[in-house]
Amino acid sequence: MGGGAEAKDGDPAAGLYVVATPLGNLGDLSVRARAVLTAADFIACEDRRTTGNLLRHLGLSRPLIAYHEHNERTAAGTIAERVAAGESVALVSDAGTPTISDPGFRVVRECRRRGLPVFPVPGPSAALAALSASGLPSDAFLFLGFPPPRSAARRKLLQEWKNFAGTVIFYESCHRIVAFVAEALEELGPDRTVAVGRELTKLHESWHVGPLTTVAVNLARERPRGEYVLLIGPENFSF
Ligand code: SAM
Repeated sequence: MGGGAEAKDGDPAAGLYVVATPLGNLGDLSVRARAVLTAADFIACEDRRTTGNLLRHLGLSRPLIAYHEHNERTAAGTIAERVAAGESVALVSDAGTPTISDPGFRVVRECRRRGLPVFPVPGPSAALAALSASGLPSDAFLFLGFPPPRSAARRKLLQEWKNFAGTVIFYESCHRIVAFVAEALEELGPDRTVAVGRELTKLHESWHVGPLTTVAVNLARERPRGEYVLLIGPENFSF
């Protein structure tokens, strides 16, 4: 089933399968991800309800174990023990790729620490989806996840990376995206080329691309809703 790890009798090979799930468009679930979810002994998920809904849409039913920020340390041990006992486990998060600004890291690390097999089942992730369609340089990039909540810390982070010779990618919530882009304008100047991707792969997907000054003005005009990725191009880059 995974990484060329199909067992001879057709049963999935024991291991932890890190399975990417859609960001919003169910058509983005890969054929292999579906096969892994169908055959896994159980699915370790961030939230039972969210993953339960996904499985229902797919017409699947598998046992679920919840792991999340607050129980991940204990859950990691339990999950790793079951992998060690020969079970196949699919690790998913609510959307996109587990461990990428999502829980799951401790589960993967615990399996690696015990020398157990871990297989990626790659697919959607908002950072790479946004980068690939942004038109900003993609040969070198830096993913910084969610910026800190406090303005001073965000400004410091922007200063720290403003000379990076590639694209810098941030996740941000609808509550803070306008403020963060305004801070970027002040810290990086009006001409820096940026892209803001919203609700990627979903019905209301939209983009703002261009100089920071224009993007900041246009973004401030709309009522921010949904999920956002901010990409900041390197100095002296323009379309
Ligand atoms: N693990 C996920 C991944 O692989 O992309 C990310 C999970 S993180 C908790 C959620 C953040 O990812 C959102 O706040 C937003 O910044 C970004 N994101 C997720 N889905 C998105 C989408 N459809 N469009 C734009 N940004 C998205």
